[in-house]
Amino acid sequence: MAMETPNHTQTVAGWAAHSSSGKIVPYTFKRRENGVNDVTIKVMYCGICHTDLHHVKNDWGITMYPVVPGHEITGVITKVGNNVKNFKVGDRVGVGCLAASCLECEFCKSSQENYCDQIQFTYNGIFWDGSVTYGGYSQMLVADHRYVVRVPDNLPMDAAAPLLCAGITVFSPMKDSQLLESPGKKVGIVGLGGLGHVAVKMAKAFGHHVTVISTSPSKEKEAKQRLGADDFIVSTNTEQMQRGKRTLDVILDTVSAKHSLGPILELLKVNGTLVVVGAPDKPIDLPSFPLIFGKRAVKGSMTGGMKETQEMMDVCGKHNITCDIEVIKPDQINEALDRLSKNDVRYRFVIDIAGRSKL
Ligand code: NAP
Ligand code: ZN
Repeated sequence: MAMETPNHTQTVAGWAAHSSSGKIVPYTFKRRENGVNDVTIKVMYCGICHTDLHHVKNDWGITMYPVVPGHEITGVITKVGNNVKNFKVGDRVGVGCLAASCLECEFCKSSQENYCDQIQFTYNGIFWDGSVTYGGYSQMLVADHRYVVRVPDNLPMDAAAPLLCAGITVFSPMKDSQLLESPGKKVGIVGLGGLGHVAVKMAKAFGHHVTVISTSPSKEKEAKQRLGADDFIVSTNTEQMQRGKRTLDVILDTVSAKHSLGPILELLKVNGTLVVVGAPDKPIDLPSFPLIFGKRAVKGSMTGGMKETQEMMDVCGKHNITCDIEVIKPDQINEALDRLSKNDVRYRFVIDIAGRSKL
């Protein structure tokens, strides 16, 4: 049973993994009452991020079972607390990775809550009241309004859901690399999965030349024709990798498994930057030669702050950017996780929690 915390009186139906087998089963648990700063959300859709897979399998060794995954949540507000002025019942909203932060440090004060050292996540975190957080594989969520964003009216709730993690995780380093305001750069995206495919769409919308670096030759046609990529390099093809040397200004690496950064760094121009957002459980190889010979930099980036998450949603609304999704029913979550582990998804599974779609 869920940890007993005072005020956790609301019974919620959800789906959880109970061990590193990763098997998801129906799970009933308690959420807190709607506090003065909270909104209650009827969950409509929840994307399946590779981070959910890492968690249910305990890849990173940090999972607290039972874990109710899900941090790509869209839904409708059904209740607002007394201090909440910016949302009302009926609003279409989204919740991503963040559930709580200290609200006082320099990062919280500048809306970089994602880098607060007391950050707590939407699931597998410890909320301010000491309870373990449970994510969006559930029918209802209580969220502090400071970690909730609006979904633009023109975006469908299912295809917008993955923007809440995949979208912001690639938007934030693009903004940080000045890709929003200076078009015409050569941008590389490594790994054409959930994060990668949104990154291609965003980089194209911001006016860049986009090269996908992939292990899957079968994705080339779609990458170019549907997602708008300009170039496609198969990372196992040494000839193609050789030809791509010193061509890119910025690369985003979204790969979920252990790999070497050396050959990818070679694709950067002198002074180029590689931003790692993928989170393999094992250390990635970082050879020194491609770094020093090209004065190249490697940095990381974790999701985004709340202000920029809203900015990202609005930018997606403006450019009509949504995710390419495969909608599933809750009883198909295990099959979807299995397919995700085999790199068999184009490009994001989204769970129809409220049962609204015709499946
Ligand atoms: P995903 O949909 O599974 O996509 C990952 C892609 O990586 C795959 O589509 C595949 O692309 C490539 N790939 C998979 N195995 C590979 C291997 N062995 N070698 C080389 N490439 C491989 O996953 P996702 O949801 O986009 O998430 C990607 C990673 O980002 C995960 O580790 C996740 O935990 C992490 N993440 C980080 C943040 C953050 O804040 N930094 C946020 C969300 C997710 P190709 O077929 O094109 O090669
Ligand atoms: Zn995620």
